[in-house]
Amino acid sequence: MLAKLPGLGPRSARRAALHLIKKRELLMAPLTAALQTAIDKIVVCKTCGNIDTHDPCTVCTDLRRDQSILVVVADVADLWALERASAVNGRYHVLGGTLSPLDGVGPSDLSIDALIARAHEPQVKELILALNATVDGQTTAHYITELLQDANVKVTRLAHGVPVGGELDYLDEGTLSAAMKQRTLF
Ligand code: ZN
Repeated sequence: MLAKLPGLGPRSARRAALHLIKKRELLMAPLTAALQTAIDKIVVCKTCGNIDTHDPCTVCTDLRRDQSILVVVADVADLWALERASAVNGRYHVLGGTLSPLDGVGPSDLSIDALIARAHEPQVKELILALNATVDGQTTAHYITELLQDANVKVTRLAHGVPVGGELDYLDEGTLSAAMKQRTLF
């Protein structure tokens, strides 16, 4: 079962299983309890698509958050990454993936209609497209932007460019050229 987890091959799964057995009381019992809690309590937020123990989720019910900002992400993992970085104090919308014609993922497979409806709420002033800098991610960003042409909302996207701590010599040409195009005033 452990070998079915992403990032774990059979070898590391065996090591993890052995470790759990050795630490039965310290690790396996609390892990079992945590997994059972997850099975019993975890729900998907009907507003934003986040995963939490209640619906609406903690983020959606947090009134200290800027209600005018909606951050669009592909997956819950991206939402959690932005939260870890304390990157933005807005609310989120999880699409559930990105458009991918080759894999048969079309607009109806994603939470796009709900996003458009939320973008038209009067308090929403900015929609930040925090999508992957891949072809699929950017195709999705363009598609959403087209749909929101008439909406009274500013659509922005994450900058593309030099990562923090990155060395220019190691960057690919696409990233370097994007960074140069999106240079900002110092
Ligand atoms: Zn939510």
